[in-house]
Amino acid sequence: MDLQLQILHKIKEYDTIIIHRHMRPDPDALGSQMGLKHLLQRHFPQKTILAPGYDEPSLTWLAHMDTVEDSNYEGALVIVCDTANTARIDDKRYEKGDFLIKIDHHPNDDAYGDLLWVDTNASSTSEMIAHFAFTHDLDLDDYTAKLLYAGIIGDTGRFLYPATTAKTLEIASKLRNYPFDFAGLARKMDSFSFPIAKLQGYVYDHLEMDENGVARVILTQELLKENGLTDADTAAIVSAPGKIDQVELWGIFVEQESAHYRVRLRSKFVPINEVAKKHDGGGHPLASGANAYSKEEVDQIYQELQYLVKNKEN
Ligand code: AMP
Repeated sequence: MDLQLQILHKIKEYDTIIIHRHMRPDPDALGSQMGLKHLLQRHFPQKTILAPGYDEPSLTWLAHMDTVEDSNYEGALVIVCDTANTARIDDKRYEKGDFLIKIDHHPNDDAYGDLLWVDTNASSTSEMIAHFAFTHDLDLDDYTAKLLYAGIIGDTGRFLYPATTAKTLEIASKLRNYPFDFAGLARKMDSFSFPIAKLQGYVYDHLEMDENGVARVILTQELLKENGLTDADTAAIVSAPGKIDQVELWGIFVEQESAHYRVRLRSKFVPINEVAKKHDGGGHPLASGANAYSKEEVDQIYQELQYLVKNKEN
């Protein structure tokens, strides 16, 4: 049976459905999780549909999370959206359900779950959820369309990243037909606070770049605290170095309170996810995340990135 139909059958079979997503949610994680929740709530109003996880302050304008009790997991169907590996699933109780489904668009390095729908050709998990809805004639309400649209524009950088396909645009066009506040959403996703603007200035001022266009910047806790910023706020400036035409590939190393560094890696052409995997991370070929547990490891990752570009085949 077709994978999506199998998922639909499982959804019909269970009275309680709990939908998870990854830690440190971005608009696609939240959009796919909450979009699926509201889609299912609309079509199966008699079921209990819950979405647990950390209420990320910078995204509460888009959605709020549910409070989920341990007892809700008894005999429940659990669906995890947009999360490649179990270590990154927000709320470890995902294991406590009766049946586990993974829906994701990252490389399937950690093939967890009883049923897996992984489509690395999809721009975003929100695109997959919207495709699921349209394929099975499950109509949406305006809010669901807005959540899924936000997820797609978040993960495609407003249709600029290469993962944007004709299908992405087709699905986005269908979502755009719903009368949610499109202008408000576009403004919200295209603006940032003054401290973040200053952080962007810092990134451009302090960017280190080699002769092959491999760039990096280190954002210390001191810098973030001085500007009243959090780790989550750095999402707004991750793409900034890539706007420089000479930059091919870049890393943003964000010092954490625990003194280790969260590493955000991006590339225009050369795949970087193998470097990410070597350093407690993973992700897409051109957009990955990792961790560095010392300043030496920060330097080592930068050297490995430099090596990648130096030795790339033309
Ligand atoms: P970010 O820089 O956090 O926006 O992450 C870029 C991509 O890498 C996303 O698709 C994440 O899912 C993935 N990613 C980030 N951090 C990790 C990690 N520690 N392990 C695996 N994948 C990650």
